[in-house]
Amino acid sequence: MKDLIIIGAGPAGFTAAIYSLRAKMDVLMLEKTGPGGQIALSDVIENYPGFSNISGMELMQKFEEQAKGFGLVMESAEVVAVEDHGKKKIVKTTSGDHECRAIVICSGAKPRKLGVPGEQEFTGRGVSYCATCDAFFFKGKDVVSVGGGDTAIKESLFLSKMVNKVEVVHRRDALRAEKIIQEKALASPTINFNWDSVVTSINGESSVSSVTIENVKDGSKAELAVQGIFVFVGIIPNTDFIDIVEKDEGGFIVASDTMETSVPGIFVAGDARVTPLRQVATAVGDAAIAATAAEAHIESLE
Ligand code: NAP
Repeated sequence: MKDLIIIGAGPAGFTAAIYSLRAKMDVLMLEKTGPGGQIALSDVIENYPGFSNISGMELMQKFEEQAKGFGLVMESAEVVAVEDHGKKKIVKTTSGDHECRAIVICSGAKPRKLGVPGEQEFTGRGVSYCATCDAFFFKGKDVVSVGGGDTAIKESLFLSKMVNKVEVVHRRDALRAEKIIQEKALASPTINFNWDSVVTSINGESSVSSVTIENVKDGSKAELAVQGIFVFVGIIPNTDFIDIVEKDEGGFIVASDTMETSVPGIFVAGDARVTPLRQVATAVGDAAIAATAAEAHIESLE
């Protein structure tokens, strides 16, 4: 039986591995689609301290190398279920079952996509899902921001301080976001609202040059000349494989301040948990706490 199984090989997973291997635990990391996680798709990262400019892929290669330097064993397998038997946990995968004493879930999340022409093609070349990560690259430019929830409006306010103009595109005529931030956004001279509207295509040659929107009430179309589009229509956590821990209504896993879930010995770190910020820096912090708490949990079993 392993001491610890880490599910996922993004920033949280590798950090949990570094901490638990240095604590001399017997660790196995399970990963579904290859190492790196979502961040490996980011062209440039400028807000991870110690690296003023690095690609997501390169940063994750450094995380992986460091973890492997401490002896990390990785296995490519999709986790389909987790069972709790007190001192023993069973992680069921598409290529067999594994037993362990503790688990750190680092399975991350993915942004909900619009599913329109141009979205996939221009991801990283004008289409972004993270203003904290990418707003800087649109300094002085015009951008579209899609959605009417807390994330969309907060991120639009963040963008409005950096870009020339934010065109919010929202499918209804009322925002879902908190009233206080709604008021700020509605009063901003650099934010314009396109109500009752949906994006129908993202256009350009080598990068985004315009976004086509359609009014859902009268069917009229408009083309917004912008250099970027930020999509904030919700995020989907990769947590379907586990149904024994408490989750919020969006499927994110609830954790204590030691990153322990509602099931003792099962911990969570990074984007899959209920958290106010989803960044490499926060995933790393979560995972250091989770791995240390997992070690304490295993010691308490002996
Ligand atoms: P959300 O609340 O689910 O909002 C998603 C927004 O995208 C909604 O306005 C929704 O429109 C729109 N939308 C969904 N699917 C769409 C589609 N296919 N096409 C166009 N528009 C679409 O997601 P979120 O803003 O990411 O927030 C997630 C959770 O985190 C929420 O509980 C939120 O309160 C919380 N959060 C809190 C804070 C905070 O500071 N307190 C900050 C960020 C997030 P409709 O309104 O028409 O449904």
